[in-house]
Amino acid sequence: MRIRIRRKYWTLRYVANFGADGECDEPQARSKLIRVRAGLPPKRELEVLVHEMLHAGLWDVSEDTIDRIAADVTERLAAIGWKKVKPPTQGRWRPKRADQIAIGDDLRYILRSRMWAIDGGVLDELASDIGVVLARLGWTIDDLENRPLPGAPLV
Ligand SMILES: [Zn+2]
Repeated sequence: MRIRIRRKYWTLRYVANFGADGECDEPQARSKLIRVRAGLPPKRELEVLVHEMLHAGLWDVSEDTIDRIAADVTERLAAIGWKKVKPPTQGRWRPKRADQIAIGDDLRYILRSRMWAIDGGVLDELASDIGVVLARLGWTIDDLENRPLPGAPLV
């Protein structure tokens, strides 16, 4: 699946028998890939996806920081009720636009509370792009309107 992160495009591919849980080609590369190990449990898959998409959008940020932020994002999204549903294989399936926007908003809230050294506009664009990908992959929430805030910053 072709995904857009901060106006660049990667192909997201699920790979069986992959030596790592995830890997991201650098933004300057041609025909870039983000590879994710197939068959991970949903929460780990979410963490790996967020981790690799953060690398894609913030290539200069250290592995250590990306790793911490991705773990935090995953915990918080799961804690407020985001979960993965399997998109139907029959017919045309499209994610709900409201889910895309809401998960992007939650990501923006978390990223802005954690990465204050990075330009807010950059984080907003990145959060929105990641939200679109996650919604396309089937991430949704039961009670969108009444979901809690994704929580105060963890120390
Ligand atoms: Zn990494």
